[in-house]
Amino acid sequence: MYRTHTNGQLNIQHVGQQVTLSGWVQTVRDKGFMIWIDLRDRYGVTQLLLDEKRTDAALLEQARTLGREFVIQVSGTVLERESKNMKIPTGEIEVLVEELTIINQSKLPPFTIENQTDGGEELRMQYRYLDIRRKPVQDKLVFRSRVAQLTRNYLAAQDFVEVETPVLIKSTPEGARDFLVPSRMNPGTFYALPQSPQTFKQLMMVGGLDRYFQIVKCFRDEDLRADRQPEFTQIDCEMAFVKQEDILQTFEGLLLHLLQEIKDIAPQAIPRMSYEEAMQRFGSDKPDIRFGMEIGDLTKAVKGRDFKIFEDAELVGGIAVPEAADYTRKEIDQLTDWVKRPQIGASGMIWVRVPKDGALKSSVDKFYSTEDLQQWVEITGANPGDLILVLAGEENRTRKQLGELRLELGNRLNLRDPQVFAPLWVLDFPLLEWDDETQRYHAMHHPFTSPKPEDFHLLETDPGKARANAYDLVLNGNEIGGGSIRIFDKSLQQRMFKLLGFSEEEAAAQFGFLMNAFEYGAPPHGGIAFGFDRLVAILDGSETIRDYIAFPKNNAGRDVMINTPSPIAQDQLDELFIKSTLSEEEK
Ligand code: ASP
Repeated sequence: MYRTHTNGQLNIQHVGQQVTLSGWVQTVRDKGFMIWIDLRDRYGVTQLLLDEKRTDAALLEQARTLGREFVIQVSGTVLERESKNMKIPTGEIEVLVEELTIINQSKLPPFTIENQTDGGEELRMQYRYLDIRRKPVQDKLVFRSRVAQLTRNYLAAQDFVEVETPVLIKSTPEGARDFLVPSRMNPGTFYALPQSPQTFKQLMMVGGLDRYFQIVKCFRDEDLRADRQPEFTQIDCEMAFVKQEDILQTFEGLLLHLLQEIKDIAPQAIPRMSYEEAMQRFGSDKPDIRFGMEIGDLTKAVKGRDFKIFEDAELVGGIAVPEAADYTRKEIDQLTDWVKRPQIGASGMIWVRVPKDGALKSSVDKFYSTEDLQQWVEITGANPGDLILVLAGEENRTRKQLGELRLELGNRLNLRDPQVFAPLWVLDFPLLEWDDETQRYHAMHHPFTSPKPEDFHLLETDPGKARANAYDLVLNGNEIGGGSIRIFDKSLQQRMFKLLGFSEEEAAAQFGFLMNAFEYGAPPHGGIAFGFDRLVAILDGSETIRDYIAFPKNNAGRDVMINTPSPIAQDQLDELFIKSTLSEEEK
């Protein structure tokens, strides 16, 4: 037996017992007459003791050869410690070592393996297995496992069947690029890795499985953004014979269950808001409703005063920043620079100070009287002591900019407490999105999403106005889940593909299998998928999904531990009928 107990198990009750422990040497403190060793495993740290009086000389010598991260096994007696450490569960005892076996040696690790490490991000990624030895990292992976387990149990109890769908598939159009896998057996052809199991889960509903779920890897070859992973995990679900309301209730139940089990938060109905309203009030389709600072529409109020920028603007919107009336000029200039960064793209920012006492003061006093500004105060809901910030321009863009500014101020003013959880359903998304670049419509969710039946007639007349039976579950300003009621009728699906610019042949070639299935008694169905990595991170009070993935990729999409993506030898490429376009030097 390697161990009778783990390193997190022994306490005052075990004093006097003979035990065997195994683990990694975290530290060795050699005082000459006494040696203390901290022995670590996943469960904790146990202090080991050797001393001149009680330990024989050969054993002391052997202990002196130990280095950090050696794997050892010890047997000995549990003693009560003289100076106790009440911060850890094993802090009242230590083990007097009577036998010591070095199971494996270790090179000096490149960073210290303790809760606080001196290792930089890149180095820790390169030696991820050593980073995983650290408790904070292990805790996150254990937490993730717990959320997965709770999810499985909840869904299984509701009759969901867990089914694995294939990983080598044909592309699913979810809006990103596919990762492709060349087929050796079928020269010149490729599989795609799934962006999601979307079509398979719909086919399972046609197959009569009724309720499906899977905690599943998905792959999207998107341009890199901070904290995006090319492979990520979804809780993917589908249900037959449901309307939107059934889905909302089932998955509201799942989130409330997780919040209750993990955070001890009593279940409370999740508020709902239309996409339209979310954009109007918060400038975002995933509003963080932990704080106010809603957008006030000043467009009408500002017209007719010869202020050119406002006269020309489609939308003039303002937010009232609480307790910010005495921001210095420098602070305001800094915020102005912030909204002018290309990522936000505003051309400038107007401000009004609403002092606790005294007159309103603005950057446009030349154009607007106190009475005018008083109207802005009412529209934005500003209180004495607030600062009103105003942006203007094209409507959609300006709303989004105001939404970003609101979030930035929410961060700066600490209004986004990660231990407060504010879920929200966003409903009634537009069905389509116009893309200026390609000059055509894209499905806002995906092409299998059903329009609202009352909007069917708009498909041929005013498709941009049609709303979808689509919904997102938002948590603290993050989209954690999204789904829709699906089209289950072949002719409607065909109309949809046509709208999206597919010719009949293209639609048949890519999605014939789905449309054929719809001809054999497809039931009404719908579903949702949660971004599991992000959900886990947020539930744990963090926004860094990478910390919750055992072997994540870095911001450049690389795994620096196994060093991939990496070149492939020409003979392997030959087998796959792939010609390298790289020159000899580039290879
Ligand atoms: N497949 C969709 C997605 O990955 C989710 C769904 O519609 O169920 O976003």
